[in-house]
Amino acid sequence: MPKIKKLLVANRGEIALRIMRSAREMGIKTVAVYSEADRLSPHVKYADEAVCLGPPPSNQSYLLGEKIIQTCKDLAVDAIHPGYGFLSENADFARKVSDAGIIFVGPSPESIEVMGSKLAAKQAVSKYDIPMVPGMEKAITDIAFAKEKAAEIGYPILIKASAGGGGKGMRIVESEVDFEEQMQRAVSEAESAFGDGAVFIEKFITSPRHIEIQILGDQQGNTVYLFERECSIQRRHQKVIEEAPSAVVTPELREAMGNAAVGVAKACNYYGAGTVEFIVDEKLNFYFLEMNTRLQVEHPVTEMITGKDLVKEQIRVAEGQSLDFKQEDLKIQGHSVEVRVYAEDPRNNFLPDIGKLSTYVRPQGPGIRVDDGFEEGMDIPIYYDPMISKLITYAETRQEAIDRMIRAIDEYKITGIQTTLGFCKFALGHEAFKSGQFDTKFVERYFKPELLDDGLSEEEEQLMVALAVEFFQKDTAVSVKENIQPEITTKGNWRSRLK
Ligand code: ADP
Repeated sequence: MPKIKKLLVANRGEIALRIMRSAREMGIKTVAVYSEADRLSPHVKYADEAVCLGPPPSNQSYLLGEKIIQTCKDLAVDAIHPGYGFLSENADFARKVSDAGIIFVGPSPESIEVMGSKLAAKQAVSKYDIPMVPGMEKAITDIAFAKEKAAEIGYPILIKASAGGGGKGMRIVESEVDFEEQMQRAVSEAESAFGDGAVFIEKFITSPRHIEIQILGDQQGNTVYLFERECSIQRRHQKVIEEAPSAVVTPELREAMGNAAVGVAKACNYYGAGTVEFIVDEKLNFYFLEMNTRLQVEHPVTEMITGKDLVKEQIRVAEGQSLDFKQEDLKIQGHSVEVRVYAEDPRNNFLPDIGKLSTYVRPQGPGIRVDDGFEEGMDIPIYYDPMISKLITYAETRQEAIDRMIRAIDEYKITGIQTTLGFCKFALGHEAFKSGQFDTKFVERYFKPELLDDGLSEEEEQLMVALAVEFFQKDTAVSVKENIQPEITTKGNWRSRLK
């Protein structure tokens, strides 16, 4: 059985660092690759060796598969871990890596290929009795035929691009009168985004929750599930807060979803770590959405509640070892919450807010894990995903994990750029989140930028308080002023007066 001695991590930032940490614990040497924008990054300093791939844009650096494979040959690297994003779900790259005699830490190219197409994935799992959203199995471009099918399925329906991803080419149609126009738009959007206008139709699940199952399989055919992650708090179809376990999943539902996820994995002869995504409706019916054939951003919450290091498991499976535990050995212990700290401005539609991390002080203390790839004084580059870090808490109960997260957010000091921390604090304190009764529409339903109380810097805050004091001193009777002044010095209160 091949033993991995030197691992190249074909990624950057927090995930590169996180993978290298597990490799180091296993006695494996690490090689970092980096672009010119990441020369001073922690992942570069942490690795035993580091190689510059080229200029900052991904297509001139992190996506250069051939150059990465050549680097492995030059440095006698025996395995590549692709992390998430970049080359992680590129079947062609995985194949070239194996052809070069290097171990790809991930599934086979065939599994990646099948699960990379939404329709091929549906077809592959159809033999395994997995619940699927009512809809079509084939892609179409014929509008009249599509309209007929939509009526059969029943409105509201969702038009999806067959080659889709990242929410592109997706259109909700509420009633038949809008169908033609929306279908034309979906086809042209899919054509321009993916060079393939084929679309299919699904029933639109109202009030959907996004709940996914982590699976692990070995090359000997053993597959287990490591329970669920609740990922319904999203903005722009992208996750911001995740937790495990989900507040609404019962032991019976967990077992049913877990078995379905194992079925999906078996349908494509999957090995390694993978995630099967489901959409869950109000009545807790679940439907297969897609499978991600890689390590997921939010994998730490699963690690916290199962005690398993998913990266180490991936490496062992890639070496050809069989899993050394069975389904019945896995138990959920405690509760874990993750918030994604993005360099984005929640007051401005969550648009990226790129700049320098002038202050960067991490929270500490019991039950806190920070996975990041930046240091104070560094710039967040514009070329890549604007995630600064993932903040994860762990505690015995859900409430304690949430309280701990709110405490950690308060301790996390970031200045120089806007972040999603304030939004996350708002969401965690919201009744809907606390009660567990929320869906993917949480942001649209409950969030307004005015609800944030930490959008201003200390100086701005002091200035506003001073202005307010002056205003009340000028225009208000003394008796009233005395009542108001103490109140307006506390953060947030004065703002409600300005509305
Ligand atoms: P993509 O690959 O573009 O991310 P997905 O199929 O994973 O597309 O869907 C992205 C998100 O869209 C899901 O997380 C879910 O919130 C929503 N979605 C997808 N399919 C449906 C559906 N049939 N009904 C309601 N919402 C859906």
